Amino acid sequence: MARAYQVIEHEFDVVVLGAGGAGLRATLGMAAQGLSTACVTKVFPTRSHTAAAQGGIAAALGNIKEDDWHWHMYDTVAGSVWLGDQDAIAYMCHEAIPTVIELEHMGVPFSRTDDGRIYQRKFGGHTTHCAEGEMAARSCAAADRTGHSILHTLYQQCLKHKALFFVEYFATDLLMTEDGECRGFMAFSLVDGTVHRFLAKQTVLATGGYGRVFESCTSAHTCTGDGIAMALRAGIPMQDGEFVQFHPTGLQGPGVLITEGARGEGGYLRNKDGDRFMPKYAPHEKDLASRDIVSHAEGVEMREGRGCGEDGDYIELCLMDLSDEVWETKLPGILETIKTFRGIDARKDPVPVVPTAHYSMGGIPTNIHGQVINPRLGGKDAIVPGLMAIGETACVSVHGANRLGTNSLLDIIVFGRAAAIKAGEIVDKDSDPAPAPKEAVEASLDRFDALRYNEGGSNAGEMRAKSQKVMQEQFGVFRKEDTMQEGVDALADMAGDVDDIGCTDPHLEWNMELVTAHEVKNLYEQSVVLAASALNRQESRGAHIRDDYEERDDKHWLKHTVAWLDRDKAGKREVGIDYRPVRLETGRDDAKPFPPTERKI
Ligand SMILES: Cc1cc2nc3c(=O)[nH]c(=O)nc-3n(C[C@H](O)[C@H](O)[C@H](O)COP(=O)(O)OP(=O)(O)OC[C@H]3O[C@@H](n4cnc5c(N)ncnc54)[C@H](O)[C@@H]3O)c2cc1C
Repeated sequence: MARAYQVIEHEFDVVVLGAGGAGLRATLGMAAQGLSTACVTKVFPTRSHTAAAQGGIAAALGNIKEDDWHWHMYDTVAGSVWLGDQDAIAYMCHEAIPTVIELEHMGVPFSRTDDGRIYQRKFGGHTTHCAEGEMAARSCAAADRTGHSILHTLYQQCLKHKALFFVEYFATDLLMTEDGECRGFMAFSLVDGTVHRFLAKQTVLATGGYGRVFESCTSAHTCTGDGIAMALRAGIPMQDGEFVQFHPTGLQGPGVLITEGARGEGGYLRNKDGDRFMPKYAPHEKDLASRDIVSHAEGVEMREGRGCGEDGDYIELCLMDLSDEVWETKLPGILETIKTFRGIDARKDPVPVVPTAHYSMGGIPTNIHGQVINPRLGGKDAIVPGLMAIGETACVSVHGANRLGTNSLLDIIVFGRAAAIKAGEIVDKDSDPAPAPKEAVEASLDRFDALRYNEGGSNAGEMRAKSQKVMQEQFGVFRKEDTMQEGVDALADMAGDVDDIGCTDPHLEWNMELVTAHEVKNLYEQSVVLAASALNRQESRGAHIRDDYEERDDKHWLKHTVAWLDRDKAGKREVGIDYRPVRLETGRDDAKPFPPTERKI
C-alpha cells in the first residue's frame, strides 16, 4: 500500500516514554544534567495513573517512631516472598530516605507532624525490628493524595529545567536493529494523526502497569502496559508476569481503590457474622498484613460462605470508628470517593470491598540502573543497548511475588532517578544518534495501517471484554491447573479475531477507536504471556496462589520467570519460558542479605 505519511523525525540524547512518576523523575534528572531530553506521553503528564496514588511513599525516616532502612529492607524481602532481588531492594530502601527528602525540597506538600516533620502512617507489611517489633509508621503521606502531589511537583520541576514534552502522542513500536539494539520508537499524535519517529541514544520505557488486563481493577483506563507489549514484540521478555497484586479493598462494583491507609488509620475488615477475621490469618499484623495475605483471606471467607450481602460476594471495611480529625486531615478524598461511587457515608456505615487487580509486579527485566536485560542476547544479565525501563513497566525486581504498599511510589522515584544518573554516565552528548533501522520503521507503519484500514474487522471493545473475562475468572485470586489451562486455550482461540481487530473509520484526528485498537492488542499480548507464566509456575508464592500447589517451593521455584512472545513459522503466538536466578546477595557492605526463611509477615 502506498504510504500517505510524512514521517516527522526527532532526535534527542534521551527520549522518555511516559510521564507518570517514573517518567517525570527520569526526565527531570536527565534534563537537569544537560542531556537533550524529550518526554512523550499519551495523556497529559499530571493525568498519569501516579496521580491516583493515595496512601504514601515509604522511607524509614523515623519521624513518628523508631525506624531503620534495614528493617524496611527486611519487610520488602519478606513481603516479596524472597523473589525480590536483594541488591535492588537494598539500594531502594537505602535511597528512600534522601529521595523523599529531595521530593520535600522540590516542593511536595507532605502532611506534617505537630513539630513540622513529614507525617508518616502505618501500612501493611511494614514492621519494626524485622517483624519482631510493632508495626512501623513508614509511609510519608500528603493526606490521601500523595501521588497527585508528587506528580504535580515533578512536572513543575521538569518545566523549570526546560524538558520538552510531546503530550497526547501514542507510541506504537520500538525501533530495534537486527542485533537487538534499540534506536527509538514510532508514535502518532492523537490530535492531528501525524506520524513521528523518535531517535535517541537511550530510550526509556516508563509506560506504567497493565491493570486493565483484568475486568475489575483499580487502575486508570490508560494502564494497558503498552511499553511491555512493545518490548515483547521487539523480542524482549517479560519477567514474573504471573505475579499480579490484588488489593484487598477495591470498592465492590466500580473497583475503585480504598487506600490501605484507611486500615493504617484504624479501619478493619469483617465478615457477614460481624467477625473481624484477619487475626485468624495473621495474628501479628491482623488487618495490616501484606496484601496477598489479606486478599486471600477475604477470598477464603467468601468461598466458605462468610461473605456479606445476599450473594455473599463482598467483605465489609469498617471505618466507623475513625475520628472526625482523621477524616478531615488524613482521608478526605476517601470519604468523597465512597460517597460518589457507592452513595455510602463511611463515617456511619461499613463499605463493601473485594480483592481487585491493583499492581503488576512483573514487567521488563532491568538492572538497578534501569538498563533492560534480555538473556537471549547472550547471558542471563545481557543488556539491551539503548533501552531502559523504569517504574511499574519494569521488573527490577524489588517487589518479587508481592509488593508492599507505598513501595511503588518509592520504586518509581528511586529508579527514575537511577536511570537519569546512568544516562548521564553513558550518553555521549557530542555524538549523533545512530540511524533508524529502516525495516523496523516500515514494519511499524505496516502494523499501523493494518489496524487503521481494516474496516469490518473485529471490534476492539468486544475483544477486550472477552480477554478480560478470561483473565478475571481463570487468573484471579485463586488459580489451578485445569482452569488456567482453559484460560490459556480460550486466549489462543481468540488469537485470529484479535489479529483481525480493525477500525470503522480510518480518520486520524482524535480517532479513539484506533487508539483502543492498539491498546487492546497490547493487553491481549500481555495476557497471553501472563497466562502461560502463571500456568507454568507450580507453587504458591505471594500473589500467585494455587489450589493444586499450595506450598511455596524454594527448591524448584526460587527463580524469576522470563517469558518471550514468539511466533512459530505460521505466525502463531507461542510463549517461550526460561528463568533467571534471584539475587540473594546485596552487593554492599552496609547491608547483610536476608536468606529465605519461613515468612512471618
Ligand atoms: C488507585 C491506585 C492507588 C495507588 N496508591 C499507591 C500508593 O499510595 N503508594 C504506592 O507506593 N503506590 C501506589 N499505587 C501504585 C503506583 O501509583 C503505581 O505503580 C505508579 O504510580 C506507576 O507509575 P509509573 O510512572 O510507572 O506509571 P504511570 O503513572 O501509570 O504512567 C504511565 C505513563 O505512560 C504513558 N504511556 C503509556 N502508554 C503510552 C503510549 N503507548 N504512548 C505514550 N505514552 C504512554 C502514560 O501517558 C503515562 O504518562 C497505586 C496505584 C493505583 C492504581
